[in-house]
Amino acid sequence: SPMIDPNLIRSHFPIFQHHPDLVYFDNAATTQRPQTTIDAVSKFYSQRNANIHRGLYSLSTDATAGYESGREKVKDFIGADTVQSIAFTKGTTESINVVANSFLGPRLQPGDNVVISAMEHHSNLIPWQQICLQKKAELRVIPVDKSGELGINNIGDFLDSKTRMLAITHISNTLGTINPVERIVEIAHKNQVPVLIDAAQSICLHPINVDTLACNFLVFSSHKMFGPFGVGVLYVHPDHMEDMLPYNYGGGMVTHVDFHKSSFMAYPHNLEAGTSAIAEVFGLSSAIDYLNNIDRLEASDYVHGLAHYFKERLAEVGTAVVVGSPENCAGIVSFLLDDIHPHDVATFLAEENIAIRAGHHCTQPLLEQMGVKATLRASFSIYNTREEIDHMIAVLKKIQKFWA
Ligand code: PMP
Repeated sequence: SPMIDPNLIRSHFPIFQHHPDLVYFDNAATTQRPQTTIDAVSKFYSQRNANIHRGLYSLSTDATAGYESGREKVKDFIGADTVQSIAFTKGTTESINVVANSFLGPRLQPGDNVVISAMEHHSNLIPWQQICLQKKAELRVIPVDKSGELGINNIGDFLDSKTRMLAITHISNTLGTINPVERIVEIAHKNQVPVLIDAAQSICLHPINVDTLACNFLVFSSHKMFGPFGVGVLYVHPDHMEDMLPYNYGGGMVTHVDFHKSSFMAYPHNLEAGTSAIAEVFGLSSAIDYLNNIDRLEASDYVHGLAHYFKERLAEVGTAVVVGSPENCAGIVSFLLDDIHPHDVATFLAEENIAIRAGHHCTQPLLEQMGVKATLRASFSIYNTREEIDHMIAVLKKIQKFWA
């Protein structure tokens, strides 16, 4: 695509100046950061550092204003109606745990059920599994087919009057499957079931509007969208804000405390106990500015094109196989090279400066369903190029010869 210039984008990410030979194909684990994100964090510490929400002096009120404008930026980025919908958490994992424990827990009765899909990251599985075990509720799992897709037409069959939540990923971090989340939300809402969308893998390059998507909860991590580690987002639809009970207790989330009882602020502040990742919110805010300056439809097209190109070229590598090849696929490809152990392949690739993952990618039950123990996973971003893929293909051919 002519509008994405990977070499220009690459020049914004200093890691590539420090590691000129690095082929970074592990973007599903975490993206690299542009200099602007790094500068925003550094500038906060050198020029604006103070704790928020407490001080009356200008350094603190300015830090507070910057932090709260980060909330506003997130709100606009996902098209939320009100800034009150946005809570900052440590990341996707914490956001899901909050919804499972603070929203769902109190209303889940024995005999109720929660529905997830078979392609969920452990983060969007274990919190639901554990709350279901505690409450004697049932966890239902929508299966995936051989190509790594959900039978969308069957989703309604998993929902009934006892279903209290449908939690589903937008994009599979292992197979790259893009789920038709708009359609899924529609089906769920027809059954009066609230929906949580795990946007960890989609938030970076896929424009998401919670107003049109109409999901009840949306969760994501800053570190997968060119922002800092340690901060993430929980979006809660205004209908549920009053139902969000505190999850952690401490300073910064109370209206009055005495020794025997306390009263709490409203959502989102009641979920931000203790000192927040303040500098990281400044960094996330800057990462959103960066994303707002690129055409994200072009960007996702470009990255999907890389995945497609990789699959095409992989066909040249003897008996290499793609694991799950969904028709609607993001920039993530799982594959195997003959019966060579994925860890051996990844180690060999690492010696050639190619960074990819080997393992179960925090989706052990999914891989079990697909009939494999581990895969190799290449995941692409906008600073990656076809030349890098050509290089990896050449190395894969070498590995294959070496092992043959
Ligand atoms: N869900 C998905 C789909 C993911 O890809 C990830 C990160 N690999 C997570 C949840 C968890 O995100 P985090 O570790 O940032 O909390």
